[in-house]
Amino acid sequence: AKAAGKNRYHVFDREGDAPELERLRLENELREAAANGELELFYQPVYSLELGRAVGMEALLRWNHPRRGTMLPGQFIPMAEETGLIVPVGRWVLEEAVRQAREWERSLPAGAAPMVGVNLSLRQFQNPGLVEHVARLLRESGLDPSLLTLEITESVAMHDVPATVEILERLNAMGVWLVIDDFGTGNSSIAYVGSRFRMNHLKLDGTFVREFLDDPENPTILPGLIDFAHTVGLRVIAEGVETRGQFERLRELGCEFVQGYYVAPPLPAGEATKLLAGRIPL
Ligand code: C2E
Ligand code: CA
Ligand code: CA
Ligand code: CA
Repeated sequence: AKAAGKNRYHVFDREGDAPELERLRLENELREAAANGELELFYQPVYSLELGRAVGMEALLRWNHPRRGTMLPGQFIPMAEETGLIVPVGRWVLEEAVRQAREWERSLPAGAAPMVGVNLSLRQFQNPGLVEHVARLLRESGLDPSLLTLEITESVAMHDVPATVEILERLNAMGVWLVIDDFGTGNSSIAYVGSRFRMNHLKLDGTFVREFLDDPENPTILPGLIDFAHTVGLRVIAEGVETRGQFERLRELGCEFVQGYYVAPPLPAGEATKLLAGRIPL
């Protein structure tokens, strides 16, 4: 017993606590993060190959942690999903994204306001208050609903198909755009996507884009996927585009939009505003 106790003691180091305690602490900190002004949205441009400019901005969450510095979603979203904290955090994200979208709608010349994309995870999507929350934010802000885009992944869409269809229909009826995110990574039947889910856009996952476009020897199913999307009435966003070669190839394949470091990384709101106003080039 003594040895076990000693071993147990060893998992504590001087810098921090045991992983479980560390996680509990992070959880409690995340609970307060929004109220403490530590959450921030970065915005990554979605570039229209047709128009040659940014037509969208995807909101990507950052946590400016007082001790740990800037944390990326991968460092806290899984915990937030497991604990359910993603619901209040996600509400903050929606509110902030709608506020920013409305500010851009107000301040930019007509036609220059971007569609602002918000990522929704399974827990948020299952939350019964989601549709009413979105409706209330649109009503109270006066934002043109077509300037809001909601991104859900294939696995979220496939989780409970009848429930998903109903929620998506209600969101669609409000006029918001819907995107199926990370397309190509799930195991869902792609035939479902357009027709059943009333999606407007399909976002090809970045790993997928790189894997299929970097190796010219690799027989690629990418053209087939893009054609499929078009056949079912969906427009295609390719994410994770990092090179000029990928960018050009996607253009040739008839992909409508690209997103990735080749165009622009996720930017703080101020930088995104400058970019939209044409004060910094894309
Ligand atoms: P995602 O929705 O697939 O977002 C794309 C991720 O790829 C972002 O990572 C973005 O910074 C990164 N990225 C952009 N361009 C490139 C590129 O050219 N190459 C590479 N390798 N990566 C690129 P980030 O910001 O770390 O977000 C990771 C994930 O966290 C997101 O994946 C999304 O699933 C989730 N997430 C982010 N913000 C939120 C949020 O507000 N709510 C929820 N529920 N999830 C969020
Ligand atoms: Ca996304
Ligand atoms: Ca994605
Ligand atoms: Ca992804």
